[in-house]
Amino acid sequence: MKRGKYLRSVLLIVLTFAFANLAIYFSYPHGVLTYWTLYVVPLVIAAIVYDIYGVVAIGLVSTGAVSWWLYSSVSSPEFYRALSVESTILEIAIGMSIFLIVGSILGVLSKKQKKQQIALELLSIHDRLTGLFNYSYFLDRMEEEKKRADRYEKELSFIMMDIDHFKHYNDTFGHEQGNVVLKKIAKTIRKNTRDIDVVSRYGGEEFVILLPRASREQAVVVAERIRKAVESLEFPGNREQPVVKKTISGGVSVYPHDAEDASGLVVKADEALYEAKESGRNKICVAE
Ligand code: GH3
Ligand code: MG
Ligand code: MG
Repeated sequence: MKRGKYLRSVLLIVLTFAFANLAIYFSYPHGVLTYWTLYVVPLVIAAIVYDIYGVVAIGLVSTGAVSWWLYSSVSSPEFYRALSVESTILEIAIGMSIFLIVGSILGVLSKKQKKQQIALELLSIHDRLTGLFNYSYFLDRMEEEKKRADRYEKELSFIMMDIDHFKHYNDTFGHEQGNVVLKKIAKTIRKNTRDIDVVSRYGGEEFVILLPRASREQAVVVAERIRKAVESLEFPGNREQPVVKKTISGGVSVYPHDAEDASGLVVKADEALYEAKESGRNKICVAE
């Protein structure tokens, strides 16, 4: 949840809590017998926003407040007159306990729901097979990083990579084994990039990497490092050929030099990748 939303919730909790106190204060001394129920409002808000911790905190504070109001009203004869017709202290205690239990259940449910939401969000931006970011997340980040590059007048480098002759591997050793290769190469790319780089699976066996604030030279160094790392990997084969080597090709483009927008950057890297494939594969080419 955003910071502003938390602040608004705190404000709402404080206001509703203050409202309950004012209602009791202005109907003193027997007001507590009617208006103690108002403490349920901050309790419910706290349960939704801060889960069980909110319930414990506001539960303690409001139980304390109700006890204090009861304690300070109890010496008044007026209070006893009201007590006999309106309610009893026992009833308040039972009511307050029910509120606390309901609040706690709400808090636990709210926590569970938040956890599920986070899990769902993570699932929606990641590729299931490789664990890298997926294409749609990549598109969002690309726009975002382009804007950031504009604002800070920095370069934004882009690498597109494609496994060489992957169809042949799949046809020879099976799709499942092909998936093992994809996972291993994805891991290798992740290992050879910075934390701020956005590594995504672009399509079947294509990967894209966004390198914020990286120059063309730096991007080429990264791409070459990945290419060499993939080259040295060993993949499972079959009985005749137990160990299989694979290679990868890549194209590099840089914003704002090669293109004026995100999609132009992809086109340029794709062209460079095509050139790498055409000129023999296991290569990194740079956009013109
Ligand atoms: P090139 O060197 O020109 O890139 O040749 P290639 O065979 O790699 O290229 P092509 O684009 O013709 O083939 C891509 C192959 O990638 C097709 C398909 O068998 C394989 N592929 C795509 N997605 C997946 C996947 O999710 N799992 C597996 N195992 N294979 C995939
Ligand atoms: Mg391909
Ligand atoms: Mg390929």
